[in-house]
Amino acid sequence: MTEPAFDQVTETAPAARRHRVVIIGSGFGGLFAAQEFDGTDVDVTLVARTGHHLFQPLLYQVATGILSVGEIAPPTRLILRDQENATCVLGDVDRIDVEAKKLHATAGHIGFDIEYDSLIVAAGANQSYFGNDHFERWAPGMKTVDDALELRSRILGCFEQAEVTDDEEERRRLLTFIIVGAGPTGVEMAGQVAELAQHTLKGSFRHIDPASARVILLDAAPAVLPPFGNKLGNAARARLEEMGVEIQLNAMVTDVDYHGIEVKDPDGSVRRIDGSCKIWSAGVQASPLGKMLADQTGAEVDRAGRVLVQKDLSLAGHPDIFVVGDMMALDNLPGVAQVAIQGGKYAARQIIAGVEKGQTPDQRKPFKYFDKGSMATVSRYSAVVKVGNFELAGFLAWVMWLVVHLAYLIGFKNRLTALFSWGMHVGGDHRSQLTSTKQWVYARQAIERVQADEAAALRSAMEAASASEPVQGPPEDAGDAPAPSASTARD
Ligand SMILES: Cc1cc2nc3c(=O)[nH]c(=O)nc-3n(C[C@H](O)[C@H](O)[C@H](O)COP(=O)(O)OP(=O)(O)OC[C@H]3O[C@@H](n4cnc5c(N)ncnc54)[C@H](O)[C@@H]3O)c2cc1C
Repeated sequence: MTEPAFDQVTETAPAARRHRVVIIGSGFGGLFAAQEFDGTDVDVTLVARTGHHLFQPLLYQVATGILSVGEIAPPTRLILRDQENATCVLGDVDRIDVEAKKLHATAGHIGFDIEYDSLIVAAGANQSYFGNDHFERWAPGMKTVDDALELRSRILGCFEQAEVTDDEEERRRLLTFIIVGAGPTGVEMAGQVAELAQHTLKGSFRHIDPASARVILLDAAPAVLPPFGNKLGNAARARLEEMGVEIQLNAMVTDVDYHGIEVKDPDGSVRRIDGSCKIWSAGVQASPLGKMLADQTGAEVDRAGRVLVQKDLSLAGHPDIFVVGDMMALDNLPGVAQVAIQGGKYAARQIIAGVEKGQTPDQRKPFKYFDKGSMATVSRYSAVVKVGNFELAGFLAWVMWLVVHLAYLIGFKNRLTALFSWGMHVGGDHRSQLTSTKQWVYARQAIERVQADEAAALRSAMEAASASEPVQGPPEDAGDAPAPSASTARD
């Protein structure tokens, strides 16, 4: 079975149609790029593997029961509903053909192609286990809505199991929470798990004291929050220790299993920490679409899989392809929301200038990043903020964090409901999103098994078909294999 060639379906005289911009990804880079085209003379198609725009910086609040999924992940098509030149398409992009200027994506079992005149790739990054992908099974990361819901159910499930076990050793293991990676996400998670245990769940169990939970924040690096510098890192560390979080630095995780983790200390000795709930926030790896583009264009990728882009965020020799956000490598810019937002908007403006004013690629002014600073919460009422040389820790920093995050939450209603949820949390230790289900814990592993089964079934069907068919031509005819389905095309 072959798919219809795209040009058979949509062939149109170039003069009769508008410039087609395709954006991959509905995160910060993709969404802000799409919005920049509002009212311009182009057609925009935004294709993403999720139907929502995810505000990743607040995922930890979903994982620890403060905010609901809807508050941080509104549907992209509703955000872009009034932008007439924008179309949203749900699809997992598995092929980009630079030569033919088209890409292939799947939605469920449906495969389809989309052609472009200009392409903005903003597919972000995934969790990295530094070559130890088997860690993921026991120490999920936090990149998606599914990850946050899984973690929430794992965290709460540990308290529930600790309540019913008679085995004291197992109870200690269940009440030990290990967070790997002392960057902003690790610090935020450690602070919230500690607050959940000590305040929110207080008095709600009959056989355990949730406050006896051990929360360990561990990193191979020698500092907490390295990008924030020593002063703020030490302030965050002091606040976490005040809350009872154990901080272990220079501690390299060498293995992760069901029971706990294995850690190597600087003197080379190896020790174990038993803990049921492990959370990974130690590294990122750019979307494999970056490598796919690099292979076709001769661009380089760095160790984290990020594509080295030109000063105008395009690929050398391909001024029509832009790579932005967590997937791009340029001047050591960090993988943060502002880099993605500004990069997405910049790329869109270059395309608009080309279409509307005839700007040629060599007339583009280089991308300039405006650093608006960074911030991370440590606990209720405590955060760290760094803007240039200005550094602040504590309550005022937390107020700044609150204002900035409210401003960036997409949509009026989302801001209102988030403000309400934060009010309940801040004022009364209340978390309104503490629902957890068994399905959320096991769904990822179950989906992986189903996908493996489907892939095996597809392979054996293809093998059976080719064995029963008479040989009709030279081997290259075999190129008409079915396009990979959603189940076989995952990154
Ligand atoms: C837990 C966490 C906390 C963070 N906290 C902060 C913070 O406090 N401050 C800050 O500035 N930054 C923070 N960041 C980083 C920030 O969120 C990222 O830098 C930013 O989201 C990058 O934007 P992006 O558009 O490049 O990628 P993303 O926002 O990750 O978006 C990628 C998009 O691409 C889609 N996609 C991926 N692969 C495919 C494919 N094959 N086909 C189709 N679609 C695809 C995804 O579905 C998604 O829509 C945090 C990140 C995480 C994970």
